[in-house]
Amino acid sequence: MAEDQADHTIYPVPGRLLDPAQCPEPYISSMEQYKEMYRQSLEQPDEFFGKLATELLSWFQPFQTVQHGGLRHGDVAWFVEGQLNASYNCVDRHALATPDKVAIIYEADEPNHSAKITYGELLRQVCQLAGALRAHDIRKGDIVAIYMPMIPEVVIALLACARIGALHSVVFAGFSAEALRDRVHDACSRLVLTADQGRRGGKTIDTKKIELPLRASSTIFSESMNSEDPLFLLYTSGSTGKPKGVMHTTAGYLLGAMATVKYVFDYHPGDIFACMADVGWITGHTYIVYGPLGLGATTVLFESIPTYPNPSRYWEMIAKHKVTQFYTAPTAIRALRRLGDEWVEGHDLSSLRVLGTVGEPINPEAWHWYNNTIGKNRCAIVDTYWQTETGSHIITPLPGAIPTKAGSATVPFFGVELAILDPVNGKEMAGNDVTGVLAVKRPWPSIARTIYGDHRRFFETYLKPYPGYYFTGDGATRDKDGYIWIRGRVDDVINVSGHRLSTAEIESALIMNHAVAEAAVIGASDEVTGQCIYAFVCLKPGSSGGHYGHDLTKELVMQVRKLIGPFAAPKRIYLVEDLPKTRSGKLMRRILRKIVAGETDSLGDISTLADPSVVETLIAKVDGV
Ligand code: ATP
Ligand code: MG
Repeated sequence: MAEDQADHTIYPVPGRLLDPAQCPEPYISSMEQYKEMYRQSLEQPDEFFGKLATELLSWFQPFQTVQHGGLRHGDVAWFVEGQLNASYNCVDRHALATPDKVAIIYEADEPNHSAKITYGELLRQVCQLAGALRAHDIRKGDIVAIYMPMIPEVVIALLACARIGALHSVVFAGFSAEALRDRVHDACSRLVLTADQGRRGGKTIDTKKIELPLRASSTIFSESMNSEDPLFLLYTSGSTGKPKGVMHTTAGYLLGAMATVKYVFDYHPGDIFACMADVGWITGHTYIVYGPLGLGATTVLFESIPTYPNPSRYWEMIAKHKVTQFYTAPTAIRALRRLGDEWVEGHDLSSLRVLGTVGEPINPEAWHWYNNTIGKNRCAIVDTYWQTETGSHIITPLPGAIPTKAGSATVPFFGVELAILDPVNGKEMAGNDVTGVLAVKRPWPSIARTIYGDHRRFFETYLKPYPGYYFTGDGATRDKDGYIWIRGRVDDVINVSGHRLSTAEIESALIMNHAVAEAAVIGASDEVTGQCIYAFVCLKPGSSGGHYGHDLTKELVMQVRKLIGPFAAPKRIYLVEDLPKTRSGKLMRRILRKIVAGETDSLGDISTLADPSVVETLIAKVDGV
């Protein structure tokens, strides 16, 4: 990939976060403290994680062995002899200690319909559904598919499954019946839990009639599970191909979820934690359900969309519930930035301390907007890098400790030993100022254990490409200060006349133009240079006038030449209304590659494409030019 063009300005931890008069004292409040804990987590992993697992989790039977197995053989296990239950950890122990504390704030599609559910009430409802599942002969080890909108029942359903030891397999409620059937079939689910219908952005989404009669509950004791018993299956977003049905186990996953909510979001009792993802994705599992509820926190469940009834929705919600941690994706940040600052003005965002982002590399322009316009330069921005397979964050700043750079995920989380590998020979690239393939050298507790029913695919996808390492599939730079910059998918790397270019840096250069809201770049084959660059650019409203179009594309080409170099200049720029994205909001560059190559009859798995009509429009655009 190209030489490091990044802006290395360092943004210190906002002073407010370290002032006890204004904010609770951060758990980790200096770079030195982080480094010391990180060192311990690698040098004495048994002590470090043994202590963490004892502090954060409640065990029915303690573990003796902290870690076992490894990446070479794909037989990772943590907290081996331990027995526990995730539902007990997320509900019962808090219902006993603080029954009246709010567990879930349900922010319904209609802004005036929010509701609160206490831990006491949550326990009652989880028991009721767990009882109904048992009455339907669902037992430990069975798989239950969950196809529900973002209503409290979806959280209850996850926890009810965990309670009786059934694995849940959540299928995003926006999927078609066909995609649901495939996933139910693939996972051999014994039952599908669904709701009548959902609402999103003022529209009704039909799912199906609920199937289970709920009787008055008695207490349903939680099943004692081994640490390594599976907790759930979940499909990846499908950005690079057919989604993979990843399996996570009980103790390691739960520990990763809770430890990152505690340290990465610096969660303190009394905080209101708001993750805007859908429960159908890993971000929803870890940061709406298991992480916050494991810690006994108040978690916000947001049913709507950021633009309903208008683009102030997030900011109104933050003011209304006094949200302290807010977590969303670059796609939402770019979309709201595109609509203008007037939607943010006048909303009281002073409760916020930590602003998180996840899902794609965040373009520096979008990072600055988040930091300035939403965070008012007084919040920590945590750009959290992780995957469905990693279970919880693996590279991320910590609010009170790590100074940030716009667009860098910064430093590894505890226990995560990173490696940047040479893509050609697989050798580790030591030191700083290196770019290559991002891998991890040893297992951490929440790493996925397998792809359900296909351990071979798991092994071949993640462990075999670089033996002894977990291969992320992403490219990364470790800069001169040791900070990590995610460069995008290895599959998306573009090679122009021998220059390896990352999609992220060209897209970020394009988005720096005041007229640009979003951009996607891909490589297409070229007789002279091997590959050449095609860019698809969405403009901000009011910037798309016809007279503007021609000059603007020239201006954009010049901008990329100047910021990165002449070899990075796009050969062609298409100004488009919309880009192909997964339902979790990620750019699907593989679809653009196929369109440009004229291979539109072999688009691959498009079940996770959010709006299939975009494809037709883009084909017409590319063919028409
Ligand atoms: P599939 O594996 O099916 O192609 P996917 O990789 O998009 O889909 P997820 O597990 O939802 O499925 O996403 C993980 C990927 O998202 C990472 O591999 C990385 O490419 C990207 N990602 C997540 N967070 C960040 C981040 N903070 N910075 C850069 N990239 C990120
Ligand atoms: Mg992936």
